[in-house]
Amino acid sequence: MHEIDKVIDNKHKELLELMSDAIVIVDHDGKVVFVNKQTEMLFGYPREDILGGPVEVFIPYKIKKDHSKFRASYMQHPEARAMEVQKSLLGVTRQGVEVPVEIGLSPLASMQGNFTIATIRDVTKRRQIEQELRKAQQVLEKRVKERTADLQAANEKLQDEMLERKKVEEHARQQQAEITHVSRLSLLGEMSSGLAHELNQPLAAISNYSQGCIRRIQSGKGEQDSLIQAMERITSEANRASGIIARLRKFVRKEELQRTCINLNTILEEVLELVDFELRNHRVAVKKQLAKDLPEVCIDIIQIQQVLVNLIWNAIEAMGENAEDNRILTVCTALVDSDTVEIAVGDNGYGIGKEVMEKLFNQFFTTKEDGVGIGLSISRTIIVDHGGKIWAESVPGADSGAGTVFKLKLPIEKEAHAK
Ligand code: ADP
Repeated sequence: MHEIDKVIDNKHKELLELMSDAIVIVDHDGKVVFVNKQTEMLFGYPREDILGGPVEVFIPYKIKKDHSKFRASYMQHPEARAMEVQKSLLGVTRQGVEVPVEIGLSPLASMQGNFTIATIRDVTKRRQIEQELRKAQQVLEKRVKERTADLQAANEKLQDEMLERKKVEEHARQQQAEITHVSRLSLLGEMSSGLAHELNQPLAAISNYSQGCIRRIQSGKGEQDSLIQAMERITSEANRASGIIARLRKFVRKEELQRTCINLNTILEEVLELVDFELRNHRVAVKKQLAKDLPEVCIDIIQIQQVLVNLIWNAIEAMGENAEDNRILTVCTALVDSDTVEIAVGDNGYGIGKEVMEKLFNQFFTTKEDGVGIGLSISRTIIVDHGGKIWAESVPGADSGAGTVFKLKLPIEKEAHAK
């Protein structure tokens, strides 16, 4: 009878046989004194071949030496050790195949000496699964990295595109501003002959009054009061001339778009002053119907003035063939509803036929010999930019002389009025 049989009885042995892990009991010298069925199956030895032999039979050759040292130190301080999970421990089968294992050690002290129970678990499957999981994780990480890189690239591309688009929009905006300005200059060009005449009047008056003053002073007849009176006329004529120039300078200056909240009646009055000499030159009578208590609209004053000058200019031209006492320009303002104000500029000129009406706001559409055809197209861009609408109404068959009305609607900005 072996000493181990005195330490564990048959009942215990039967239990150990039933366990799913390999159980190896080793004596103080490292000799195998008990193995269960699982040990035979795991390592491929019949128990007769290993009982009484060194436990290193289960250890691969390359770590056998270290194992003897480890066993000796364990025997000096035996204590229960949980199965080693982190370290990849290896066992070796009879056929020389290395098997990954987890090993738990428990000391077994008895009268017959000190033994060690080793619980050995084959973790081949688990290691495989772990490896597969690791691989899957690596694949996943790689995909996530690739996807992230793709997304980043797409994002960068999108940002580039947005930047590019912004640039294009900014360029288009600048071009539009440029065209609008050029069109204002061209309007001024059209006004220039009338303007020269308009400026000539105060200049001539100034010259006359000055000469009159000189003569009176030279003849010694110049009374102080009449001289002062004449000089006051000179001052007012000079003011008139500089007023004309100031208005024109304001009209043609190139500025960044800026919105100001203002009553449209004020704008209309200023525009009428600006084109006053043309209206007088062409014997055009002006009928005004300006709504009282008109709420303010927030607009770019110069641009809206440009639209109105253009409409009035066209109206004057359209009435060119009317009898001199039958040229009537009608300007109206109205509050359409709580959100909108409307301006109408009407004439009793030759009207607009159906064909012209269809192309009216097209760029470079003109029926005039010296026309450019950009006034109305720019007017529409300006009004649309202001969130408004512009259109024309005319009697079909045009020759009737019933004329044309251009109407434009502009939104009232509630927020601006709440302030
Ligand atoms: P232009 O005055 O250089 O021709 P516009 O864009 O201002 O350019 O006008 C385009 C065309 O619309 C004019 O040539 C004319 O045929 C027509 N039109 C504009 N206003 C009137 C109007 N009040 N009466 C009749 N026709 C008009």
